This record gives sequence, C-alpha cells and structure tokens, in this order.
Amino acid sequence: MRTVKRKNIITLACAAVLMAAAVSGRSLLMSEGAMPYIKADAELKVRPEMPQVVLDAGHGGMDGGCVSVNGVAEKGINLAIVQSESDMLTLLGFETVLTRDSDKSIYDDGVTGLGEQKKSDMKNRLAIFSSTKGIALSIHQNQFTDSRYSGAQMFYSRRNSGGEKLAAAMQKQFVALLQPDNARETKPVDDELFLLDRTEAPAVMIECGFLSNPEEAAHLEDPVYQRKVAFTIASGVLSFHAGEIGS
Ligand SMILES: [Zn+2]
Repeated sequence: MRTVKRKNIITLACAAVLMAAAVSGRSLLMSEGAMPYIKADAELKVRPEMPQVVLDAGHGGMDGGCVSVNGVAEKGINLAIVQSESDMLTLLGFETVLTRDSDKSIYDDGVTGLGEQKKSDMKNRLAIFSSTKGIALSIHQNQFTDSRYSGAQMFYSRRNSGGEKLAAAMQKQFVALLQPDNARETKPVDDELFLLDRTEAPAVMIECGFLSNPEEAAHLEDPVYQRKVAFTIASGVLSFHAGEIGS
C-alpha cells in the first residue's frame, strides 16, 4: 500500500514536471527548480534504472523530407520535436541519444553524391539505433495527395522485438492526450523501413501528423503544439516502460 502511494506521488511529481515542460519551453526545462523531483525519484528507487532512448529527427541537411502546404520542410519540425522530447525525457531521468541535433545529414566525411550521402546517413543512423539497449524513436511527418487525411500513426517491424508493443503504447497516448478522434491503427512495415527492421531494441517510427492537411500542418508548425507532441511521446515512453516493468 505504501509503495503504491509513493508511486502515485512520484507519478504526480513527474506529471507536474512534464506539464510545466510542455507549456513553458526550453528555458524553464533547464531551470534548477525542477531537479529535486528527479533526484527524489532516483533516491526512492521506485523504478529500476531508466533505459536509454534514441531519438531520431528524420531527414536533415539537403534532405528536407516532405513539405507542408505552407512550404515548411519536415526536417525542421522533426528536429524541434526531438529537442523538446530530449529535454522532457532527460528531466524524467532517461538518457537520450540524438542521431542529429542540428540541420544536417550524418553521412561520413568524404562521401559525395546525394545517393551515397543518403546511404551513408542511413547506415550511421542504424549504427546509433543498434547501439542502444533501450528504445529507439524515429520522428517524422506524413504527407498524402488527399489533404483530408490527418492524425498521428505509429509504424513498426514485426521482426523488431518490442516494436509492436511500443507502437501500441504510443498510439494510445496520442489518442488519449492529443487526438481523441484519431482512429488510426499501428502499422507493420517490416523491411520497408530498415531502421526499424534491423534494430534489436524496440523501435518505432512516429508519423506525428499530415503536413498535407492545412489544419494539422498549422498545428505541427507551431512550437507550442510541437511541445504537446513531445509531451505525448514522453508519456508513451513512460507507459511502455511501466508495462515492461509490470510484465
Ligand atoms: Zn519523413
């Protein structure tokens, strides 16, 4: 009973920190005021050691990804969400590893030609995904010829252990916290997305929404909404992690 109570207190403290982070942005995220909660959490040993989280902002540099109806490139939206995500997860005690932290492609020095650079970039992202014993999240935005479609959707590989479960936890949180009308189902893509397919740790691609839908594009370009997406993903990570401890 006492443990349950403690858990509730810690969950509330984490939620408060996360909520503050979600509404106030990076400057408050780095303030000292929030740190005692995290320290107390660690000292109470309510949860076992937090796993590492690899955060991949899709595209970068010459590769802009898809483009919104307003002409905004996907790569910048992905990076903004990943940076907020990293701040929030760090506050919660996770160690984060970013595949990129600026507008760049991560191909090896000396590689020339767009095709070879893209190949080298993906190889290096896979190396980072493969090096983690935690989980890996690849953040992207969707696009379709018909502008009607909207809503986040999670993709996973059936060969990736834990991917399906992680995708389900994430999809559930998007519906619960951000998009109550989202009826999308998680989707297996197997070897279509080799980052997910060849990673041993649970890995998911998060398509946060459709840049081809005017209303959703406006949301996804808004820094406040980007932090709400990051908050939602953080809660998905916590939910998946709680399930792992329970199972
Ligand atoms: Zn993309």
